[in-house]
Formats: sequence, structure tokens, C-alpha cells
Amino acid sequence: MDELPVDDVLHRFLLERAGVRGTLVRLGPAWREVAGRADYPPALHALLGEALAASALLTGGIKLDGALSIELKSAGALRLLFAECSDQGRLRGLARWNEPLPAPLALDALADAIMAITIGNVDRGQRYQGLVDLRHADLAASLEDYFTKSEQLPARILLAADGERAVGLMLQKMPGEGGHAVVQDDDAWNRVMHLTATLGAAELLTSAPEQLPYRLYHEESVRLFEPRPLAFGCSCSRERVSAMLRSLGRDEVEAALAARDGEIEVVCEFCAQRYHFDRIDAEHLLSEGAAPGAPGTAQ
Ligand SMILES: [Zn+2]
Repeated sequence: MDELPVDDVLHRFLLERAGVRGTLVRLGPAWREVAGRADYPPALHALLGEALAASALLTGGIKLDGALSIELKSAGALRLLFAECSDQGRLRGLARWNEPLPAPLALDALADAIMAITIGNVDRGQRYQGLVDLRHADLAASLEDYFTKSEQLPARILLAADGERAVGLMLQKMPGEGGHAVVQDDDAWNRVMHLTATLGAAELLTSAPEQLPYRLYHEESVRLFEPRPLAFGCSCSRERVSAMLRSLGRDEVEAALAARDGEIEVVCEFCAQRYHFDRIDAEHLLSEGAAPGAPGTAQ
């Protein structure tokens, strides 16, 4: 039997007896790639890791076309945090901040903060966006609220990140589906929550993902599905950068060309890919029809 991957992997599982579905994400190299792109203060480093794990975690229970992103903006020291997982399991993320950054970094204490979950296909303009209330200090509790409210079913989310790994566990009570004689076990959800409460961040960070559900919930008839591979990856392209430049307008593009000896260089903040445009390129892209504006962070 092949060895199962222990890092950069998403596992879905069912607790059949309890009627609970779960998703488990463990990131290693993909997280270190994202974390290594800036010298993040410790509190922000942890939050970015949690958000990256969460972006993958939230794809576990849906049919995704495009990407799922978690974006947080505030007027405070944390200006922006962005984490995204694509339908191909490609992850990217970044954060921008001003010093001094408060530590611990409490989400409910950030000035004028908003957090959005966006699901869909940017290129086709098909996007759904939901806003997350920031009434808790930590990301996991805020996301739990969001799911409990939007799906009308209880959810439990655990997130943790350190220098090596970013991990997440999500449990959702399954709806009693029509046509199936689901034996309702009123205590099941509470029983699963009780077992989940014994799981600390250290154990979540160090456990082999394909073993954790069995170890925690061994009396709940665990059914583990085929794991999905995850990896660092960026969706930037010359076309998207061109669209971003076009959205700036002719005056700004001309000014950038003049300031840089007739060449514009755009460096992707997610993956450090460099894109170059000379005057001929710029003229070409400006003469193309008006394209939909690029979103604030993404290229
Ligand atoms: Zn990129």
C-alpha cells in the first residue's frame, strides 16, 4: 500500500454513527512557502496560517468551481489578510500590516474590520460573497458562527499554525436527508464535541491526518475518504496583470512608463513572478476594450 501524504493534504470523513461530517487539512510545504514571503510578526504569522488552513478546510464540503478566499480588511494595524484555495487545491495568501501590531491579535478589536468569504470563478464573473461577523477574538470561532448561521446546522472549527505547519479540523452536523431513515441520536453531536474538546493545538499540529479521526472518534464508525492533495500555487497571469494595468487607466500607465525608463515591472506579491511591459505592450493593452476591473488584491 502506498504511504498516504501527511502534509499538504485534505481529508474528508464521516462519523456514520453520529451523523457528523468532517474535514481535516494539514499544510506543511505549502504553508512554509506562503509564510516565507514576508517577515510576519508572530501573531500575524499564526493568523495567516490559520486562514490558509481554513481556506482549504472550507472547500471540503462544497463543489467548488474557481476558488474560495478569506479576506480580512481593517482600518487598524492589520490592513489586509488574504488566503485562497482553488478548485485544483492550489493555495496562496498574504498579509499587509502597520507596526506596531497588537499581540495577541484579536479580530474583534480591529478598527472597522470586515471579513469576507468569496466563492466562485473570477474569470467568469460568478462569485458569491458572504460577510463574517467579527464578534470573537479568534478566526475559528468567527467562522463557526458564520457556518452555523448560514447553514442552520452546528459546526465546530479548530485551527492552529506554527512555523512548520498549518492545520484545521471542521465538523458539521449532517442534515437529516429525505428518503433516508437516519436514526437520530440526540446526544451524538454533544458526544462528538466532547471528544473534540480533548484535542489540543499541539496534538492537532503533530498528528498524522489519516489517523486522527480514528483515534479521536473510534467509537463513531469513522469513514475516511480518499485524500485530496494541496500545494502552494498562484493564479496570476500576464492577462490578469494586463487587466489590472488597464483598470488603472492611460494616465497612470503612461506615468509609470515615464518613471521607469519606458518599462513597467509588476511583481506578484503572492508568488514573486515578474511581469514586464514596455511601451509597445502598454499601448497594446490600453487599446484593447475595457475589461472588468481586477479585484483589489488579486492579479
Ligand atoms: Zn502570482
